[in-house]
Amino acid sequence: MCPGGFVIPAATAPQQIVTNGMSPANRGTKWSNAGMVVQINPEDIEGNDLLRMMHFQEQLEKDTWQQGNMRQTAPAQRMADFVNKRLSYDLPASSYAPGLISSPLHFWLPDTITTRLQQAFKNFGKQAHGFLTNEAVMIATETRTSSPVRILRDRETFMHVRLQGLFPCGEGAGYAGGIVSAGIDGERCAEMASAYLSSLQQ
Ligand SMILES: Cc1cc2nc3c(=O)[nH]c(=O)nc-3n(C[C@H](O)[C@H](O)[C@H](O)COP(=O)(O)OP(=O)(O)OC[C@H]3O[C@@H](n4cnc5c(N)ncnc54)[C@H](O)[C@@H]3O)c2cc1C
Repeated sequence: MCPGGFVIPAATAPQQIVTNGMSPANRGTKWSNAGMVVQINPEDIEGNDLLRMMHFQEQLEKDTWQQGNMRQTAPAQRMADFVNKRLSYDLPASSYAPGLISSPLHFWLPDTITTRLQQAFKNFGKQAHGFLTNEAVMIATETRTSSPVRILRDRETFMHVRLQGLFPCGEGAGYAGGIVSAGIDGERCAEMASAYLSSLQQ
């Protein structure tokens, strides 16, 4: 959740939409936004290609661009409409500067994402009154929460499975997806690296 922040375009190549959220230091704008993260496991994607999660991510970014009229206008849907599988006839104002276009996200996003989000929103709506509301707008898609490819490391030593002295760490190596998890993983890797270096000196 970014209180007082914006949803921003964060694509890194043509023909893709990637969104992200950020707040300026004073968190002073009238907006708030939250990234809703769906965990996707390798077994959710068909095939044996080791890079299939990366291809899935790339395809999702391209599909989102196509659904956004092949510009940076992002496809979006009101939250209750998404849960109830209805097209939104209009959209509320939003902080996303390139603009939004109404789109049936429930229809074209992969099932593995939509069904989990719909179920989660229903549960949140029961626990937190007012959470599940058509005043909230869902903007597709934030796809860069963590690396789709994991660099393998030993469970005990945190060292790369083949390269002695290399400690794959944090988001880029596939062990974190956000500030807190990256911070915790970084701390654990630093402790392991320190123990390894100490053992070399003995
Ligand atoms: C716009 C935006 C908003 C975000 N908002 C949130 C949020 O609200 N909440 C949240 O939890 N997370 C948020 N995130 C995600 C969060 O920033 C990352 O999950 C986190 O920073 C990952 O930490 P990390 O240490 O693994 O990687 P990074 O912070 O990316 O650090 C990697 C470092 O490695 C350096 N590096 C790369 N290649 C080399 C090289 N070859 N040699 C030497 N150095 C190199 C880079 O310069 C960088 O300093 C946001 C990210 C973005 C981009």
